[in-house]
Amino acid sequence: MQKINYPLGDQLPLSGHAIEISPGLKWIRMSLPFALDHINLWLIKDEFEGRVGWTVVDCGVANQTTQDAWQLVFKNELEGLPVVRVIVTHMHPDHIGLASWLTEKWSAPLWMTMTDYVLAKWLSDPRGSEIGSVAGGGGAADHFSRHGLLDEADLSKIRARANYFSNMVPAVPQRFRRIMDQEEILIGDKIWKVLVGYGHAPEHACLWSRTMNTLISGDMVLPRISTNVSVFDTEPDANPLGLYLDSLTHLKELPSDALVLPSHGKPFTGLHERIDQLHVHHQERLNEVIEACTQAPHSARDLVPILFKRDLDLHQLTFAMGEAIAHLNYLWRDGCLQREACSDGVLRFSC
Ligand SMILES: [Zn+2]
Repeated sequence: MQKINYPLGDQLPLSGHAIEISPGLKWIRMSLPFALDHINLWLIKDEFEGRVGWTVVDCGVANQTTQDAWQLVFKNELEGLPVVRVIVTHMHPDHIGLASWLTEKWSAPLWMTMTDYVLAKWLSDPRGSEIGSVAGGGGAADHFSRHGLLDEADLSKIRARANYFSNMVPAVPQRFRRIMDQEEILIGDKIWKVLVGYGHAPEHACLWSRTMNTLISGDMVLPRISTNVSVFDTEPDANPLGLYLDSLTHLKELPSDALVLPSHGKPFTGLHERIDQLHVHHQERLNEVIEACTQAPHSARDLVPILFKRDLDLHQLTFAMGEAIAHLNYLWRDGCLQREACSDGVLRFSC
């Protein structure tokens, strides 16, 4: 099996500049205000509805730094041509954040999957967070407390983050063009096939070009970090880990020597090796959960220090809780664990 390799070495695009991956395909990199401090975006030379220009894949978060970096990209990298289309892989703020700004600025349409569009539209409305949220607000606090996070200081901080998403994604375009699994999109003179994956976002689109042997993997396959797979309060019994692992298995049908362009980290080859590593990683976590729950009933909060052996700030703790619940739900939905609502209202799982 082909080992993981970084064919471009240690090169990284400088702010406002691109690295050409192949003719008509450019890599740009924007900073992010998180521990994960950057995102990769892609420019593909296109001729769309009679206009020659660039299709942009993913947008960066909505802040001034990213807009300034885009202005430099427009000046330095578009060869005097317009942006003619914006494709967003999924609804997370680092991917969809500036979609509204980009599509308006260039009068370019937004192309993305339906589920992710609708969810982003909902969450970007500040009223949406009263109903449900991905990382903050009352619903998220109740969800985590049901799973054993009972520290009142933590819970009140989570409640206070009700507008977490809408702050980072203040607007989503009013209209979009839906893309679906297996759809073939002509970008320039190349066909890119949409490969939808699940478990990280509701309907995440990867783009696969057979001619270029290249996969724009979004967040579905990352070279160094494992993709976040979390259960949120809007769908508390979800099994995103099962969905994610199945989606990875499908991606293994692509050639093992494909070039993978991930949203975080460096372009790499060794897709099959990376997918195998991710399967092993999650199987090890699942084994730890089974072992703990065999000894005594555990809540998701009890499992966090077992699954994540390092100090976590609140932001990381909410991600860790979401991941712990994902591993518990996987085993519970599989019949491997039982779930009991205890007298203190906390859900605990046993073998
Ligand atoms: Zn994501």
